[in-house]
Amino acid sequence: MTTPWHEELRHLAEVESPDSSAVTFYFQPETPQNASHREEAILVKDMVRDAIRKEERNGNRKTLRADLERIQEIGEMLHGNHSRAKAIFACADKKIWREFDLPALDGGTRIHVNSRFWLKPMAVAVLEVKHCLIALVDSEKARILDYYMGELTERERFEDDISRKVRSDGFGGLEAGHVERHVENDVMRHVKRVADRLFEIQSEKKIDCLMIGCRQEFWPDIEPHLHPYLKKSLVGRFNVDPGLATPQEIQEMASTLLAEIQLNEQQARVREVIGEAQRNGRGSLGLRHVITSLERGEMQTLLLGQNFSARVVQCTHCGHMDTRIVEKCAVCEHDTRHVDDVADALIGIALRMGVQVLHVDDEEFANAGNIGALLRFRADQNTAEKLAS
Ligand SMILES: [Zn+2]
Repeated sequence: MTTPWHEELRHLAEVESPDSSAVTFYFQPETPQNASHREEAILVKDMVRDAIRKEERNGNRKTLRADLERIQEIGEMLHGNHSRAKAIFACADKKIWREFDLPALDGGTRIHVNSRFWLKPMAVAVLEVKHCLIALVDSEKARILDYYMGELTERERFEDDISRKVRSDGFGGLEAGHVERHVENDVMRHVKRVADRLFEIQSEKKIDCLMIGCRQEFWPDIEPHLHPYLKKSLVGRFNVDPGLATPQEIQEMASTLLAEIQLNEQQARVREVIGEAQRNGRGSLGLRHVITSLERGEMQTLLLGQNFSARVVQCTHCGHMDTRIVEKCAVCEHDTRHVDDVADALIGIALRMGVQVLHVDDEEFANAGNIGALLRFRADQNTAEKLAS
């Protein structure tokens, strides 16, 4: 699935600044126990000042300096406004200034000046983010919330006040059993209304997953009313009293559940790639094989290990990448240039080709090269023959 984030990253990956004036700034607010706001402000200030000094020695380009100074100003303001991480991509030569608020970033606050933007931290933070719908339901009330990029927002709430209706109507002195059935019907109608509304939201908008929070004993009243499509995106439910749960509690439960789901997905994908690679099938492992698969257009999903980084050379003419640091391209014999972090180059190419990018933190995967890919096909194998067998 492509999101606006894919588009942004793809666009940023295409930027190349011949005089190395592409600035990437990541700001990760420190937790209060790790640093005081003051310390943090000083850290950002020093970091940017160092970058400016380094730049003064390297040619002192006015436009780059202006970008760095603007980042310094923003950095100073950020320490008061603590909630979110931030990324800034600036390249005055290319008239680019992009700012993004992000969920938590791995690796802390950093600044990077180079010929290309440093995309990996943002890619890690946004590419696999799921848009989650949360419904809190009891017999009279329902709250529907969105959980996206670490933020919880209430979308709507509604109430079918069943007990008041019983009290005010009194059901005209009907016997107790009859009243009970009336209440049961009203509860059922309320739940059905919630389920229908959830299905409507799911049909309007791309929702990656649904979570339902209710009291344990109420679940059997909800489940039969969920549309089969809705059930498919139901990833979990938690046992809460919807009337009592605080936003913090809901957020905690949602993020824990989501982290579990993502870890399971990651592990399943890692096992698939390793298994396929071992039996010489639709998997490739290790940088050299991954580059070959990407250049052959075989790739479906790129798996990047935590902290994976490597230097390669890239042909200035045909774009071929080589893990051996050679001066001439092995394909077309033109000059090559150094690529400091192949991870960023691979992310850029993958996004351009519509390849899914998945970050994994897995020991077995790290030992197997820390980079791999799931392939759509293998160009060096006779697919027709394979399919027939
Ligand atoms: Zn070449």
